[in-house]
Amino acid sequence: MKTALIIGGGFSGCAAAHQLEMLSGWDVTLVESAPFLGAGVRTQWFGGHPYTFGPRHFLTPYEETFTYLNAIVPIRRCPEHEFLTYVERDNAFYAFPINMTDVRTMPDYSEIQAEMDEKKREEFRGAKEAKNIEDYWIGSVGQRLYDKFIDEYSKKMWLIDDNKKIDTFGWSPKGVALKDGPRAAWDSAISGYPYAPDGYDYYFGFATQAARVLLSTTITNFDIPNKNVTFNGEKKSYDIIVNTIAPDTIFDECYGALPFLGREFHKIVFPTETVLPENVYFLYYANDEKFTRLVEYKKFTHHVSPTTLIGMEIPTFGNGKHYPMPYQSEQIRAERYFADMPDGVFSIGRAGSYLYGIDIDDCIRQTMLMAETLRAGGQDHPVPGENYRFPELQR
Ligand SMILES: Cc1cc2nc3c(=O)[nH]c(=O)nc-3n(C[C@H](O)[C@H](O)[C@H](O)COP(=O)(O)OP(=O)(O)OC[C@H]3O[C@@H](n4cnc5c(N)ncnc54)[C@H](O)[C@@H]3O)c2cc1C
Repeated sequence: MKTALIIGGGFSGCAAAHQLEMLSGWDVTLVESAPFLGAGVRTQWFGGHPYTFGPRHFLTPYEETFTYLNAIVPIRRCPEHEFLTYVERDNAFYAFPINMTDVRTMPDYSEIQAEMDEKKREEFRGAKEAKNIEDYWIGSVGQRLYDKFIDEYSKKMWLIDDNKKIDTFGWSPKGVALKDGPRAAWDSAISGYPYAPDGYDYYFGFATQAARVLLSTTITNFDIPNKNVTFNGEKKSYDIIVNTIAPDTIFDECYGALPFLGREFHKIVFPTETVLPENVYFLYYANDEKFTRLVEYKKFTHHVSPTTLIGMEIPTFGNGKHYPMPYQSEQIRAERYFADMPDGVFSIGRAGSYLYGIDIDDCIRQTMLMAETLRAGGQDHPVPGENYRFPELQR
């Protein structure tokens, strides 16, 4: 049997354990510093309401990731779900991504239209050549819509004073911005949430059932070039390592620390059955409020209660490595760490890939690609070459 170590028992670590079980022939150890699996995707309870750390709903363009997850934790589809953005200057809620049906109702529609006509003549040249997220959005939708929806939101989301600093932005949904109808942007994606009251929790146990799972255990020393790590005071060596934590951590920050943002999370119970309108699941706030969005969990979970729980997220420095910064310079730094990972070391998941664009479905897909790589190598040569991460998954 070949040996595999999985560093971290969040969604990607658990999904990796399941893929290795299905490959067979692997003796898998998963080490997780928290006393539970799933990290922020694990369901918690407050006032009888299930919630997770942030929304964590399943939204995917990949049929195969839905089919895979749905077979283990059946998913209730919610194609009707809408996101609204509150724009204080219009004192109005509009659907996000921005769509033409709403734009036509805006008080300054004629000015917006003039900007669009002008842009049309330029064939979105500005957007195509944009080097940062501000130029891209202004090039895509014009200054006025950028000011309403993006400017303040993006600055508070990333705790920055200038959106021109964001020079990688493949994940931003600009390409779908100006269709008709409030849900146009999500038409091609599968949207859903597990039926089970405890959300994805069954998945974490199921996916890791064949692995040796060590909870409340932190890996303290990493010798990645030799595929050795130390935990519980013992040094151990593995045939492959699947890393799901920040790549700088496993190299003792030898090229400098990679910046991340964290989140403060607040849960608020309201004395009514529901708070948000029928098909609205998220509210985004694009003004000077400190919080970025609110989510009403009942919309996903359908649990019955005379009260309802709303989750609120506030970007912070610290309190978790949740959001890799979307700066090219930092991605170049991350590449230096990836380049030092030998054959047989995969770095996956949001922190492990150092990519904000990695969501739950991408975590699953990355582990599927990892399994494909291992399978293609056969039992004798299961160690992959350069496939330590999967840049084509950026979106
Ligand atoms: C607030 C928020 C909301 C989100 N909402 C959505 C959403 O609605 N839909 C969606 O698809 N995606 C969403 N995402 C993204 C998605 O949930 C994540 O990409 C995914 O859960 C990341 O899982 P992971 O396993 O890569 O990383 P993590 O969940 O960060 O897991 C890493 C694990 O490693 C452990 N660990 C760290 N250091 C060590 C160590 N030294 N030794 C041992 N263990 C260690 C940690 O305790 C943790 O459990 C959201 C993310 C956030 C932050």
